[in-house]
Amino acid sequence: MNNLQIVPYEFRPGEVIAFCIPKDIRAEDYLAQPYVQKQLALLKTGKITQAEFQNLEIRHDDDCPLLQNTGLCACDPVVRLKTPSKGNGKGKAR
Ligand SMILES: [Zn+2]
Repeated sequence: MNNLQIVPYEFRPGEVIAFCIPKDIRAEDYLAQPYVQKQLALLKTGKITQAEFQNLEIRHDDDCPLLQNTGLCACDPVVRLKTPSKGNGKGKAR
């Protein structure tokens, strides 16, 4: 797999996160996507750590071009931390 590029992004002075994105996507275009902007906003405001950044749940609209494989994200996605699956007591006991 050599069609990926590493794009470093400094989200706060001295703090860099690296994105691994396809080479046929420009870094500016990738970073401009709504879901990436939302991810970065969480990072910039300290709501998530870099480790948590890898563990985000991203829900795109059904008609988002990214899901349709027709282009980059252009929806208003929901970005949130995946909730740890601890079980809520409602599951079947084993
Ligand atoms: Zn989207």
